[in-house]
Amino acid sequence: MKKEFQAESKRLLEMMINSIYSQREVFLRELISNASDAMDKIYYRALTDESLTFEKDSYFVKVIPNKEARTLTIVDTGIGMTKEELEANLGVIAKSGSLAFKKENEIKDGHDIIGQFGVGFYAAFMVADVVTVTSKALDSHEAYRWQSEGADGYTIEPAEKESVGTEVVLTIKENTEDENYDEYLEEYRIQSIIKKYSDFIRYPIKMDVTTS
Ligand code: ADP
Ligand code: MG
Repeated sequence: MKKEFQAESKRLLEMMINSIYSQREVFLRELISNASDAMDKIYYRALTDESLTFEKDSYFVKVIPNKEARTLTIVDTGIGMTKEELEANLGVIAKSGSLAFKKENEIKDGHDIIGQFGVGFYAAFMVADVVTVTSKALDSHEAYRWQSEGADGYTIEPAEKESVGTEVVLTIKENTEDENYDEYLEEYRIQSIIKKYSDFIRYPIKMDVTTS
């Protein structure tokens, strides 16, 4: 069953979908920062919960471009989301970054604001026409998959996932006559976006690179 986004979320989504070229690359900054936040949450939990140990090497973000499938996948080993959290966090706009954006947006219209502020998860829709989030929460035995094609809503269903954490799969848009999206599947381009915006992230950001 498809659920509808809240009206405000819908409006922000429309803006993301129609964003101008130079701003689009920030989608990756947003997804990597969410991954990093999710790993911080395990870290803070481990400080007070003796049953948890924080093994530094187990925490990383992995970025996986796949040209054949036209997907860009962002995997993290963070705290994950339950079914309820997928619903609450991705179905509505109530979060910090998105809020800052919204406020500013009431004063002047969109454009350079997208690049400036954290616009959050919905930034994924600047480059993807389908976004699929599979997540397994810490303390949970079940995994769930959230999927959306944009403004008309989202679905949530049970899924298979072995390890705790989140996997975000972006199905990258097809190129149009005047818009290029293929570049978001190119290793060098992805590397340069990561360097530009995510240099300060405290966890390793991994990507397998082709050597020829
Ligand atoms: P913000 O990061 O400012 O809170 P976002 O729109 O980026 O807003 O994300 C909304 C919420 O979705 C986050 O606060 C978090 O609870 C949840 N979320 C998003 N991505 C992840 C992830 N990779 N792992 C766990 N939770 C996530
Ligand atoms: Mg965020």
